[in-house]
Parts: sequence; C-alpha cells; structure tokens
Amino acid sequence: MSTKPQGGISRRGFIANSTLIATAVSLAPARRAPAQQSVPAAVPCFVSTWKFGQLANERSRQVYQETHSVLDAVEQGIRLVEEDASNGSVGLGGIPNADGIVQLDACIMYGPGQKAGSVAALSGILHPISVARQVMEKTRHVMLVGEGARQFALREGFPEVDLLTEERVEAWNKWKAEQAAAEPPEPVGHDTIALVGIDKRGNVAGGCSTSGMGYKLPGRVGDSPILGSGLYVDNSVGGAGATGVGENVMRFCGCFMVVEAMRHGMHPSEACAATIRRIAAMDGRPMSELHINFVAVDRHGNHGAAGTDPSFDYAATTAEASDVLPAVHVVS
Ligand code: ASP
Repeated sequence: MSTKPQGGISRRGFIANSTLIATAVSLAPARRAPAQQSVPAAVPCFVSTWKFGQLANERSRQVYQETHSVLDAVEQGIRLVEEDASNGSVGLGGIPNADGIVQLDACIMYGPGQKAGSVAALSGILHPISVARQVMEKTRHVMLVGEGARQFALREGFPEVDLLTEERVEAWNKWKAEQAAAEPPEPVGHDTIALVGIDKRGNVAGGCSTSGMGYKLPGRVGDSPILGSGLYVDNSVGGAGATGVGENVMRFCGCFMVVEAMRHGMHPSEACAATIRRIAAMDGRPMSELHINFVAVDRHGNHGAAGTDPSFDYAATTAEASDVLPAVHVVS
C-alpha cells in the first residue's frame, strides 16, 4: 500500500519561507518573492537547471545583447553545455544507453505564436537543440525521433559526431560487466540543461537538452523533449523546465502544471513546489523516491526553483547579476 506524503519543506539557504510553501497547494493569489535574492527580478532574465547552467545563462545574456533575440540566446546558451564534455549528461560526453549508444532528447519553444520543435532518441549529432529549432522552423511538424531525426539533421548539414568519450566508454563497459543477465538493467545518474529566457518585452523562449537516464533501454524517451513535461512556455505567463527522473515528470505534464500555477498567481518557486506536492500526492511514493526538480521564471523576471533532490540548484542571470541559487527542497 502506498503512503501519502504529507509534503513538508526543508529550507535551504535564504529562499522562501515555510508559510509560502504551506499555502502552495491551493491556488494562492499572492506573488510573494523570496526574502532576499542575489539576482533580483528583472528582464531580460535567463534561468536554468543546475550550477552548470550559469555559464549557459551568461552565454545567453551575451547573445541576447548582440542579437536582441531571446530564441537565439536560449539556443546558444544550451549549445555551450552540449559541446562541453565535462558536465553530466548533455550532448558530447552524454551517458550512453544500455547498448552503449548516446541517444539525445531536446526541445525548444518560442512564446510568440506558441512555436515548438523537438527531437528524441537522436544519435550522432552534437547539437540536438539546434536540430529541434530546425524542426520548428523548417518542417510542418513538431517532433522527429530516432533515425528520422538523424537523417533530417544530416540533410540540414549537421555533421556526424562521435559523442562517446573514453571515460563514458570505460564506465559503460564496467556497468555492462556488472549487469546480471536478468532484465531490466539498473539505470544510473543523469542531468539536463533546461533554460528559459525572458526578453525585455516579456517574450518567453525555452529549451531543454539531455542524453537522459544513463543506460536506459534503447529507444527510451524521457520528459525533456516532451512539450509540457520537460519544458513549457506560455508567452502570457512565463516558462518552466525540469530535471530528474523523466518518468516521474512526463506522467503529469510537470512543466505545464508549473506554468499554470504561475498563471493562477503563484510565485515561480511556489509554483514549482506546489507541482511537486501535487505529483507526489498522485504518485503515492515518498518525495525522496521521485527525483523531480523544476526551475521557473515569469514574464516579469521573477524566478525560483524547487526539487526533491537536496543537491538541486539553479542559475539565474539578468543584465546586472548572475548567480547559482538554492532551490526549495521539498520533502515528505
Ligand atoms: N529528465 C531527464 C530524463 O529523464 C534526465 C535528467 O534530467 O536528469 O531523461
């Protein structure tokens, strides 16, 4: 029998107070900001998952300053993470699937006109975020997967790249040797860059890119390329991105829920925490088993994040400031 989590919050750092989160499940009308924040609400603004998002945000800020395009800014910020093999599991150096092949998932969204493009289970291409943008801009479709996505990327002139680093091959070989014949294999760690930008006029763009859950079954697609799950933007509200176990986000349209909560007046950190509590209540397992984390920003540049993983943090960058900030840690 499942245990219904009670959904308490443990506070990390300065962010949010307990009353704010205790009221988060109801559609609280107040848009209460955290007590103090080193990156005050302002536009343009870029937020992203994890510490490694800070450099991506700063690249986005620079591109925005040069091009005045929040879509270009988001795409270029994410490309920086995709070509850096030192981060967890995005693009080059991504974690392979159970067959030893790196399969990437990504999507991009643009608020004006609610435009979107997405690719899933894409192998041998360094920049899935840019392929997703080409799907959005050059096809009548929204999502391409697997070999079809790869062929499309090659036709569009993306070079074929070996995404496996020596380190990843070594780790995969070790993992493979340790696996018993019995199925299913035990998957390992993962991380995602989800980055949302707001331009000076409040227009929203977002993107998400990952190799997904390590040693996943070949063909497995996570939440990251699924609009409304790993990423969602709404130009009249703002945007949200997710990282964690995709299976526990995509069953609930997690990022859509976060954006809807902001539409009903919640501060972004409240909206992220309320969504996690709602997911946990439906799922029935304790928070600590869910591994779901959200970052969000509204069209005015208010930003925040919440997660069930105590290590989850997020990066926020405006014209004036840039920092890595603690997310609200949501516990059972
Ligand atoms: N959400 C991604 C997936 O499940 C992985 C991650 O964010 O760590 O594919």
